[in-house]
Amino acid sequence: MVHLFEKQKRYFQTGETRPIDFRLQQLKNLKAAIKKYEREIIDTLKVELHKSEFEAYSAEIGVVYEEIRFMMKRLPDWIKPQRVPTPLTHIGSKSYIYPEPYGVNLIIAPWNYPFQLAISPLVGAIAAGNCAIIKPSEYTPNMSALLKKMISETFPEEYIAVVEGGVEVSQQLLDLRFDHIFFTGSVPVGKIVMAAAAKHLTPVTLELGGKSPAIVDVSAHLDLAAKRIVWGKFLNAGQTCIAPDYVLVDANVKSLLIEKMKQYIVEFYGERPEQSPHYGRIVSERHTERLVRFLNEGTIVHGGRYDIEQRWIEPTLLDEITWEDDVMREEIFGPILPILTFETIDEAIAMVNAYEKPLALYLFSEDRQVQQQVIEQISFGGGCINDTIMHIATPYLPFGGVGQSGMGAYHGKASFDAFSHYKSVLKQTTKFDLSIRYPNNPNALKWIRKLFK
Ligand code: NAD
Repeated sequence: MVHLFEKQKRYFQTGETRPIDFRLQQLKNLKAAIKKYEREIIDTLKVELHKSEFEAYSAEIGVVYEEIRFMMKRLPDWIKPQRVPTPLTHIGSKSYIYPEPYGVNLIIAPWNYPFQLAISPLVGAIAAGNCAIIKPSEYTPNMSALLKKMISETFPEEYIAVVEGGVEVSQQLLDLRFDHIFFTGSVPVGKIVMAAAAKHLTPVTLELGGKSPAIVDVSAHLDLAAKRIVWGKFLNAGQTCIAPDYVLVDANVKSLLIEKMKQYIVEFYGERPEQSPHYGRIVSERHTERLVRFLNEGTIVHGGRYDIEQRWIEPTLLDEITWEDDVMREEIFGPILPILTFETIDEAIAMVNAYEKPLALYLFSEDRQVQQQVIEQISFGGGCINDTIMHIATPYLPFGGVGQSGMGAYHGKASFDAFSHYKSVLKQTTKFDLSIRYPNNPNALKWIRKLFK
């Protein structure tokens, strides 16, 4: 591992990763490799998470193609040094900002979108001219092995490599002095990553999780709210970092919303969701057991059946939940949706603000004033008005958390920025030399007072 890391350090120093043609070629190579392995990627996602081909293509493969296409088109503009104005005090000089690659990056990925969350950051790393080591999750070992095969066939290891393994391997990697760490995963591990990075003062991008609310007010288009919440929640069996974690609904419309959510669960996944080709599996038996414990809380108003060995839990709606229940104390990350109520929007805002800043927030409301109030008064990573999930799937919106839900962002230009340092350079003239700044000039103070008032 140390050997590989040193190799990447040396390779980066050669400067080969920097020219625009090289970067564009590598992005092309990456795309060709994904095309080649598309079938295997889809099959592996089916085996490990029971993802349908549609979900695999749209949420794991298609978005990466789109990210590559978007990058390749704009990269020639982004890598140009940017000329910026220079103040009068610096007369004779010109100012520039040069984007430069960080160097050797560590990308640590989770298991829930095991392909996309390893490869999408890599697109940013390549575009910005870096080397990278990817550490996929040990919970999806088939995908981890497939990523290793695909990447080692496509790139020399001194440029981009995959290192497989679990916590121990991850910790060994974190001991090395990377130039930047891009971590996607849970809040507790995010803290471990940041503490390890602090030893070397390595900058980090942390894409974490948390409890993302879906707020439904009395003016909401209830039918669409129910449909879009059910879709966003039960996609990948609830194992999506930006899935609505819980619903906060105006007490007056709760029963109607629940009825409509039940209807859409059946419409999307049938009476026997475990038999549906569209319904995912929990990643492991251990993760299923953790989720099953939540079923003892509140009242199950829909679903509740499960099979630990087969790793599935029915899409489940939990009513009569309180903030003190365990299900409200940690990120759920599974197909269980607690429903809580509020009387006024001020109360709903206060409830959300009493906890950590969420990664995502979804508001369903036709009232523009309420929309504005929620956007202004709650801090969250990103989100949607009258939808769920969709804000993640556009390269024009930077994606990331705030507070405990993460730091830094990526996607589109933000991915290029995440893997770049912006170096400021002032180019001074030697044609003349203003003497006023020098200590031996008797008028120095007078001039400086005139200039900086
Ligand atoms: P995790 O934090 O357990 O693991 C993520 C990665 O960290 C894995 O590769 C794992 O091997 C490694 N790791 C685990 N423990 C470690 C340790 N002690 N030291 C060093 N490395 C360690 O997360 P997970 O269970 O794979 O994924 C689920 C979490 O990720 C959820 O909280 C979810 O919200 C979050 N997530 C966030 C995003 C996002 O984009 N913000 C996307 C997907 C998932």
